[in-house]
Amino acid sequence: MIKITFPDGNIREYNSGVTPMEVALSISEGLARNVLAAKVDDQVVDASTAIQADAHVQLLTWNDTEGKKTFWHSSAHLMAEALEALYPGTKFGIGPAIENGFYYDIDLGDKEFGSDQFKQIEDKMLELARQKSEYLRKPVAKADAIAYFQEKDDEYKLELLEGLEDGSITFYTQGNFTDLCRGPHIPQTGFIKSVKLLSVAGAYWRGDEKRKQMTRIYAITFPKAKELEEYLFLLEEAKRRDHRKLGKELELFAFSEKVGLGLPLWLPKGTILRERLENFLRRAQVRAGYSPVVTPHIGSKELYVTSGHYAKYGKDSFQPIHTPDEGEEFLLKPMNCPHHCEIYKVKPRSYKDLPLRLAEFGTVYRYEQSGELHGLTRVRGFTQDDAHIFCRPDQVEDEFMKVIDLVLYVFKALGFHEFSAQVSLRDKTDREKYIGRDEDWEKAEAAIIKSAQEKGLPYVVEYGEAAFYGPKLDFMVRDALGRKWQLGTIQVDYQLPQRFELEYTGSDNQKHRPVMIHRAPFGSLERFVAILIENTAGNFPLWLSPDQLAVLPISEKYEDYANDIYLRLQERDLRGYVDHRDEKIGRKIRDAEVSKVPFMIIVGDKEQAEGLVSIRKKGQGDLGSMTLDAFMAIAQEEIQQLTHDK
Ligand SMILES: [Zn+2]
Ligand SMILES: [Zn+2]
Repeated sequence: MIKITFPDGNIREYNSGVTPMEVALSISEGLARNVLAAKVDDQVVDASTAIQADAHVQLLTWNDTEGKKTFWHSSAHLMAEALEALYPGTKFGIGPAIENGFYYDIDLGDKEFGSDQFKQIEDKMLELARQKSEYLRKPVAKADAIAYFQEKDDEYKLELLEGLEDGSITFYTQGNFTDLCRGPHIPQTGFIKSVKLLSVAGAYWRGDEKRKQMTRIYAITFPKAKELEEYLFLLEEAKRRDHRKLGKELELFAFSEKVGLGLPLWLPKGTILRERLENFLRRAQVRAGYSPVVTPHIGSKELYVTSGHYAKYGKDSFQPIHTPDEGEEFLLKPMNCPHHCEIYKVKPRSYKDLPLRLAEFGTVYRYEQSGELHGLTRVRGFTQDDAHIFCRPDQVEDEFMKVIDLVLYVFKALGFHEFSAQVSLRDKTDREKYIGRDEDWEKAEAAIIKSAQEKGLPYVVEYGEAAFYGPKLDFMVRDALGRKWQLGTIQVDYQLPQRFELEYTGSDNQKHRPVMIHRAPFGSLERFVAILIENTAGNFPLWLSPDQLAVLPISEKYEDYANDIYLRLQERDLRGYVDHRDEKIGRKIRDAEVSKVPFMIIVGDKEQAEGLVSIRKKGQGDLGSMTLDAFMAIAQEEIQQLTHDK
């Protein structure tokens, strides 16, 4: 008998050789119908794998990321089977699962291929899925595997086989299709109930542009037809919310080839939005004990030689700027940290001065290949909501907690209620590659985990993901469409204080080295605004809306009254515009709605006579007529609620 430990800590005994599927059946038939694969100890395996010894077992279903991955990778085999049936002679590269769905790189020879063939492949896949063919695993000798793919004349699989060791090679067969694969796979094709081919693109074999260009087919599958519908709806919605599209429509930002690729131009409305975000964070930071600083956009090459950035990025980034003076070289700032280290050094520091928290909305420039640029999320110049905390080693934990508090405050105020974190620590065994004292690392790593736990932050720990100079914590948020975005980072750094020879005098009167913490809740304003646009579909909360209101006179007779109303609103820091156009009121309302203005203030004969305003709220319609003071009270309350800024 062997002992199987379940994720909830329950332990059950089974005969040695039991499979995860049998384990599932022993619990309930309903569960067994949903089991796609299993995690035995740390390895994901087929549900039909015999378990020979005591083990921790997690049964994987569609609700687990690894279950989904197994489902999608198995679907790639199904698509390959369909392709082989429809286009005999097709050669296959690789077919992995990706975040949403899967792809297969194929070589169709000289056959034409395009999206008009999608339907035929989808139908074939569904037909094959209905046959409920099992995915059968079979170990094969390398020589036999080579013979098989020589027979098929598939040079791609043959090349993949070159890198594999005899004795470790397995084939998977479902129906009439056999693939070289180490698995795991779902039990049988009948689990796949809906299929959608999404797109087709060219992809170089092994990512090498000197090699053959293959056809990459992206697709997605689901265990229920309804889930495909929902997915396609979200996909459409994502297109509708694309920040590049909305940024143009709402006149927030633009790009000009003449200014340069990847260099965003913030238009007046976008600038209002950005400044509101900056001010919001600035206030929160001052309350949290940060000191704002300002540093230049360039720094001498020496500065970055000292910081190590020149060695790391120098060749692959913007090249040095020369002046008429012999030998004088500057670099565009790729990071703000070196400048802040020099601010730390302007005077001697004592242990009582720490922590020192320096904050700057610092604009940095990094070279990105033109093909990598994407709207505001991948740019060549961007502004970080940056800060560096210089503290004693014993203050790291406390500072971490405070940073997490600040970051969560920011996320919640901006409508991101679902977030998680990744804690990146050293490799468990290989410790040679990290700088800094072992005991400091241990302390900092423990501090990060403890702060995440204490703050109730859902997190995963990744070993070996730390930078060589320190451990870090990255924040992820989930947006309204359920997509995950990586946002800000908190990073401990033992390296820069060493490179810049930063010191403080301890209570023992000795010199000590401070620890540096880099942190940026938004990451960059550009990226954050992009995510904010897509999360809200451009319907920003009132306090962030570039135009918070539109005053709409019914005709020109009420212009003066409208202007007077707007002046009084401006005095209370409410911004927007008066629509002076000679248009019908219906048209003015429609245009304000398209521009996503939160409040419309309509004034006509009745309003002017009674000294009132009529209010329409976007998404809610008519709020009736009221005094201007009553309206301002409603608006102020909404602003305060949203920023929690009471
Ligand atoms: Zn496979
Ligand atoms: Zn930094």
